[in-house]
Amino acid sequence: MLGGTFDPVHFGHLRLAEELCETLKLGEVRLIPSGTPPHRSSPRVAPEHRLAMTRLATADNARFKVDEREIHRAGPGYTFDTLTELRGEAGTACPLVLLLGADAFLEFATWHRWHGIFGLAHIAIAHRPGFPVERWAERMPQPLAREYTARLMQQPLATHLQPAGGIVVVPFTALDISATAIRDMLRAGASPRYLLPAPVLDYIQSHKLYT
Ligand code: ATP
Repeated sequence: MLGGTFDPVHFGHLRLAEELCETLKLGEVRLIPSGTPPHRSSPRVAPEHRLAMTRLATADNARFKVDEREIHRAGPGYTFDTLTELRGEAGTACPLVLLLGADAFLEFATWHRWHGIFGLAHIAIAHRPGFPVERWAERMPQPLAREYTARLMQQPLATHLQPAGGIVVVPFTALDISATAIRDMLRAGASPRYLLPAPVLDYIQSHKLYT
């Protein structure tokens, strides 16, 4: 599962999904655009646009599936609730992995029922420029640091041996791309070409988004 606002989806998201899919030997990656994200300010464009862009970005990859459940959920789209549903669908034995960029993991202890998430899935953390692993210890709140130390697994494929509960840190090509920077470029009339898939940029331009 890779959740996000995808406002808009960009190559940072897609490489994260691709590389972690390969390293962890995942059967599929579900990209799950958020409806009303509980942890941050509202996305700039409507959920329908973010969903459409995520579909365009993933159309050519058979292992990527777009899951629209959070878009249709009334109220805040908590990851705990989404993973509870996915666990119900996958059964108790199938390993599930929540994919997170390092910035998202450092905020993890503020998430709704974050402790409970370890009972539902593993967490795989991808490096993100600006969030160096060496400095995580000082940026992680104590309760999260405790879980991190206790649950860290050295081998990514150890996630196949149990259905949930581990943490793996996965090497990832550093891509300093963010949706914020792309939105800023569009607002300023600058080109974000090559930071996101061409069909997504075409969609943004034809719907006059982010201007
Ligand atoms: P914004 O700039 O609007 O905050 P974003 O680019 O961070 O957006 P999100 O949709 O918030 O994108 O991110 C979804 C997930 O993808 C998060 O776990 C985030 O850490 C991860 N992610 C996004 N971009 C990158 C990147 N360039 N490198 C690594 N992880 C990333």
